Amino acid sequence: MTDSERQELLQELLQKQENGELKPKDRYEIPPQDMPEQDPVVRAGNVNEVATGYTETHAKIEALRCLRCKNAPCVNGCPVRIRIRDFVVEIAEGQYEQALAIIKENSLLPAVCGRVCPQENQCQLTCTVGKRFKDPTKGVSIGRLERFVADRDEDSESVPAVAAETGKKVAIVGSGPGGIVAAADTRRAGHDVTLFEAFHKPGGVMVYGIPEFRLPKAIVQNEIDMLTKMGVKIVYNFIVGKTRTIQQLLKEDGFDAAYIGVGAGLPNFMGIEGESLVGVYSANEYLTRANLMRAYDFGSGADTPIARSKRVAVIGGGNVAMDSARTALRLGAEKVYLVYRRTEKEMPARVEEVHHARQEGIEFHILQSPKRILGDQNSQVTGIECLKYELGEPDDSGRRRPVAIEGSEFTIDLDTVIIAIGNKPNPLISKTMPELEITKWGTIVVNEETMATSIPGIFAGGDIVSGAATVILAMGQGRIAAAGINEYLANK
Ligand SMILES: Cc1cc2nc3c(=O)[nH]c(=O)nc-3n(C[C@H](O)[C@H](O)[C@H](O)COP(=O)(O)OP(=O)(O)OC[C@H]3O[C@@H](n4cnc5c(N)ncnc54)[C@H](O)[C@@H]3O)c2cc1C
Ligand code: SF4
Repeated sequence: MTDSERQELLQELLQKQENGELKPKDRYEIPPQDMPEQDPVVRAGNVNEVATGYTETHAKIEALRCLRCKNAPCVNGCPVRIRIRDFVVEIAEGQYEQALAIIKENSLLPAVCGRVCPQENQCQLTCTVGKRFKDPTKGVSIGRLERFVADRDEDSESVPAVAAETGKKVAIVGSGPGGIVAAADTRRAGHDVTLFEAFHKPGGVMVYGIPEFRLPKAIVQNEIDMLTKMGVKIVYNFIVGKTRTIQQLLKEDGFDAAYIGVGAGLPNFMGIEGESLVGVYSANEYLTRANLMRAYDFGSGADTPIARSKRVAVIGGGNVAMDSARTALRLGAEKVYLVYRRTEKEMPARVEEVHHARQEGIEFHILQSPKRILGDQNSQVTGIECLKYELGEPDDSGRRRPVAIEGSEFTIDLDTVIIAIGNKPNPLISKTMPELEITKWGTIVVNEETMATSIPGIFAGGDIVSGAATVILAMGQGRIAAAGINEYLANK
């Protein structure tokens, strides 16, 4: 559809709407509005954002697809219960500020969530329009609409009001989405808040994991700037559990409460031969070097460069694997393979990311997995020996179990292998606090109503509680924890 056709369609729809003639059957017929994107060939050579965002015309047409369902099932699909129907209706009416105000009742980071939330498994999964087409990606594009109003936010510089100083000190450990929200909400209540971050930059996975081409770092930085304008202090290069323990912060440094939001950043490995060869990275290390430590800057001598790769295999099928493969391409690799032991249907990555990766030329090797990594006399990776797989009965996760086909070995020539098969919690903090209750997976046990841990005054949220999950879940838990901390301090 050309821009002028789109404009014409909008005028026609608005006219019908004004005359009360836009019935549900007409709304079903409105074409879903695709997200404008950079051309795949061009974007594979730059780090700019792939999706360039809806125009006003796209947004209004998309919003007019919403049936305004009485029971709004989309709201139940949203982990933080944003009043989706109401904000979508405001967009259809051109009331963008009101739309954003509705979103901000429940979400502090709409520009982030509009970009990275897995809507097709959440709000869009329950959307009546998507159900009618038996395809959540054809439901109302809730995330794209959220991003549209967030990007137009004219009030983005206004600093939230902070209550009178309470004299109580709160330590927030980790500056991921959960930590940011917990810091904002406890500071709003008037507490003296300090955010401790192990890295030299804030933002957690939103900065060191998710690449610029999916989530521009300036958006996250805006949120951090807002925290400092509200009076939150940020201390970098401070590893809680090493630099100071939580007990020291609480017993010796005058903090009255703490929030643990350190994520789940310890990478899993496969335990196969060759994983310590030069040229094997965990996805975490690879992405952190690329995103946070200027590894892309081959010319000016970044401290932690990545060797220039020509042939790369990424092992895994989640968002992290897609991000690693697409990053490798942008760092100049000639061939990037994605090796996954199930089929595309079982891939945990977002449908959109899989689609983008394919468009950009990532080659998918499905139903395959490395048996060992091969190297030369200099311990440099030269390839992987793979086995082919077939799907058997469903396992505990409900997905069909991959079963290796004996004797199916073959090799792929490579110089780099990136392992992206999941992360687990780092035991650094729990090891220094034996009285902190944790699960057998190392996640922290909390009371879900308040996010309080087994130790009074210590709260937790995000991936360190849920295991590797999502930005919106971390943000929602940060908010519940802040309410828990505010209540705990009010009674202290
Ligand atoms: C590559 C990648 C892509 C992803 N893509 C998506 C996506 O598209 N959509 C989505 O919803 N989710 C995605 N996720 C998951 C999502 O980013 C996480 O679920 C979310 O960021 C978890 O937030 P958190 O608040 O637990 O903190 P995290 O974002 O994990 O941040 C934790 C912070 O704590 C710091 N820290 C750790 N230990 C210490 C310590 N001892 N002392 C001080 N600071 C410490 C870390 O440096 C980090 O900054 C992705 C994850 C990865 C790795
Ligand atoms: S379920 Fe879909 S169609 Fe119904 S109100 Fe929500 S967004 Fe609109």
